[in-house]
Amino acid sequence: MTRRATPPPTQDKPAPQAPPPPPAWRHSLWLVAIALFVGLYFILPATRSAQPVTLSYSQFVKDVDAHKVKTVTLTTSGAASGTLTDGKSYTTAIPSQAGQDLLNSLQTKGVEITATTSSTSFGSEVLSWLILLLPFLILGYLWWRLSRGASAGLQGAMGVGRSRAKVFDEERPTTRFADVAGYEGAKLEIREVVDFLRRPDRYARAGAMAPRGLLMVGPPGTGKTLLARAVAGEAEVPFFSVTGSSFVEMFVGVGAARVRDLFAEARKRAPAIIFVDEVDAIGQRRAGTGAVVANDEREQTLNQLLAEMDGFDPATGIVVMAATNRPEVLDPALLRPGRFDRQDTIPLPTLAERAAILAVHCQGKRLAPTADLGRVARGTPGFSGADLANLANEAAIVAVRADRDVLTQDDFDQARDRIILGRREGSNVLLPEERHAVAIHEAGHAIVAALCDKADPVAKVTILPAGQALGATEQLPLVERHLYGEDYLQDSLAVRLGGRAAELVELGQGSTGAANDLAGATQLAVKMVREFGLSEEVGPVGYPEGGSVFLGGGGSALSSRPFAEGTQEAIDGAVARLLRQAEDRAIGLIRDHKSELDQLVARLLEEETVDGSIVYEVTGRTMPSSPGEGVTVAPGRAAAGGAAAAASSAAAAAGTGTAATAAAASSAAADGAASDGTSASAPLKADR
Ligand code: ADP
Ligand code: MG
Ligand code: ZN
Repeated sequence: MTRRATPPPTQDKPAPQAPPPPPAWRHSLWLVAIALFVGLYFILPATRSAQPVTLSYSQFVKDVDAHKVKTVTLTTSGAASGTLTDGKSYTTAIPSQAGQDLLNSLQTKGVEITATTSSTSFGSEVLSWLILLLPFLILGYLWWRLSRGASAGLQGAMGVGRSRAKVFDEERPTTRFADVAGYEGAKLEIREVVDFLRRPDRYARAGAMAPRGLLMVGPPGTGKTLLARAVAGEAEVPFFSVTGSSFVEMFVGVGAARVRDLFAEARKRAPAIIFVDEVDAIGQRRAGTGAVVANDEREQTLNQLLAEMDGFDPATGIVVMAATNRPEVLDPALLRPGRFDRQDTIPLPTLAERAAILAVHCQGKRLAPTADLGRVARGTPGFSGADLANLANEAAIVAVRADRDVLTQDDFDQARDRIILGRREGSNVLLPEERHAVAIHEAGHAIVAALCDKADPVAKVTILPAGQALGATEQLPLVERHLYGEDYLQDSLAVRLGGRAAELVELGQGSTGAANDLAGATQLAVKMVREFGLSEEVGPVGYPEGGSVFLGGGGSALSSRPFAEGTQEAIDGAVARLLRQAEDRAIGLIRDHKSELDQLVARLLEEETVDGSIVYEVTGRTMPSSPGEGVTVAPGRAAAGGAAAAASSAAAAAGTGTAATAAAASSAAADGAASDGTSASAPLKADR
C-alpha cells in the first residue's frame, strides 16, 4: 500500500467519545458480595447454636422423661428445637397428634417451653425481603435511566451553545506538501498562506493584508482536502476541519451558533486554519424576494460566516480555507475581497502530474522494471488523483491475485481496463457469428485509425468482451493535446464510424453494436457545429451547452435553447452531413483496403487481442511514435471510459479549446453490448 496521507476528514463529526471504561476491580466487587452473602447465610445460624443433634420423637419423649431436656421451642409446623441439660442443642419434629399430653408431660418434667408461629432463619429472612423489594428496585432503576436519557435528549435539542464540541476536530496533520504531487502553481500560492501563519508579523510590518480566505475549486477527487491538510501540516498550527453540511441542522440557529463557536475556538488558539470542506452546503446563494423556498437556517449560517470572516482582525492569524466543486452556486458575498479573496482552481491532473501522483501512490509498492508509470499516466486521461490512487491499489490487487508482490506493467493495464470497462468476461460468451461480427467491427476501427494521418495511434485491438463492451479498439495519444484542428476532429469521426463502415462493407448490413460509436460521433459532430463553428450551414457561431453545474457534467438539459427553431434545423442538417461524410470516408477507406481488413479479422479471431503494431504491419504503414521518446506506443488505454472522464474534465475548464480536447479524445471507443435492450434500439435513432 501507499503511504496514504492520513484519510481526509470527511466525517461531519468525530465519533462520540465512549465513557471511560469502569475500573476492573469493580467487577470483583460482585464476587465479594456474593461470597459474603453465602458466608453469612451459613455462619450466622451456626453462631446462634452449635451443631444441634437431631432427635427422633421417641428419643425426645424419653429424654424429657429422663429430665435431660432443658428448653424446647415449639413451632406451628411441628418442628421443635431447644437445649439439653448437658448444654447441647437439638432439633426434632413433633407429630401433630401429640397434643395436650405432651404439653402436660413437658410441664411436669420442668421443661421451659417457648412457642413461635414459624421458624425463620436469617438467610430466608433476607431472601424474602429481597423478593419483596425487587420490583421496587427494578422500577426505580428504570425510572432513573429514563430520566437520564430524557435530560440528555433535552440537552441535544436545547443546548445549542454546547453543540460545538462535536462539530470540528482539532488536529495537527502530518501531511506535507511532498505528499501532494503536482499542482505546483496552486502549491506556490498556498505556500504564501503557510508563510503568513508562520510569520504574521512580517506581513503586518509591511502593511500587507494577509489572505483571509482561500477557496479551492475543482472536480471531486483532485486533492483539495489533501492540500488543505498539507497546509496545516506545513504550518504546524491547529487545523479545524468541518464539513459544510454539519452546520445545517433541523433547528434554525444551530448552524449560526456553531459558526460562532468555531471562530471563537480558533481565535483562542490562533494562529490556526479553519477548513470548511464542501462549503457549497452553506455558502449557496441566498434566496431573493422572489424565491419559492427560502432556507432560513442555511441563510443564517451563511450570514454568520460572513460576519465572522469580516470580524476577525487580520493580524490574529486565522486563515479560512474552503473547498467546493460547485463554485457557481456560491453566494457572491462570499467571494468578495476580504472573505475568500483567493481562489485556486485545482483542475484534473495533467500527464506529468498523473505520473507524479502515481509515483506517490506507488511508494510502498515494488514495481517491476517493465512497469512504466509514465505509460500508465498516458493511458489515463481524465483520471483524478483519487482515481489514480484507486488504480494503483487495483494494480496491487491484480498482482496479489496472481500471487506476486511485484507490480508489472500488465497489472496496471489490467487494473485500468477493469476500472474503465468493467470486469473481463470469458471469450466464450459470444456466439461464433457474433465473434466474427465483432472482429470485423473492431478491425474496421483499427484500419481506419491506422490509415488516417491525424488520428491517435492504435494501441490495442481486442474482441474480448468486458463490462458493457463486446470489443474495444484502444488509441493512445502520443502527447497530451490542448488544441485540436478540424482535420483531427474529422479523422476522429471517421474512426468512430469505421466499425459500422466495416460491417456495412463486409456483411452488407449494420448492427446494434455501433450504438455507442454513433452516440459518441453525434455528440462530437454537434459540438463541432454548435460550439466550434466548423460547418458551412451554421457558420461562425457558438452556442456552448449550459455551463458546468457540478464541474464535470453539463447542466444543459434544463436550460432552454438560446436560438431559434430554424437554427436547430440547420444544426441538425449540418451534423447529419458531417456524419455522412465521415461514414462515406470510412467506407471508402475500407473498400480500398479490404484485404488488409480481412487479414486483421483473421488475426483477431485467432488471437483475440492484437497489439497496435500489428495493425500498422498489416496496413504497411509506419507506426507513429512520440517525438521525444522514440519508443513505440505500448498497449494503451481504452478510450471508452477514459474519454468520458476526459470529456467531463475538459468541460470543467472553461474555453473552447479544451472542450474540443474532450470530445476529440473519445475518438474510438469500446462498443456497446448488443444484448442490452436500450442500446439495441439506439441505431435506429442515431442513423438518420
Ligand atoms: P477532494 O478534491 O475531493 O477533496 P481529496 O483531497 O479527498 O479530494 O483526494 C482524495 C484522494 O486522492 C487523496 O486522499 C489522495 O489519496 C488522492 N490524491 C488526490 N490528489 C492527489 C495528489 N495531487 N497527490 C497525491 N494523491 C492525491
Ligand atoms: Mg474533499
Ligand atoms: Zn465500435
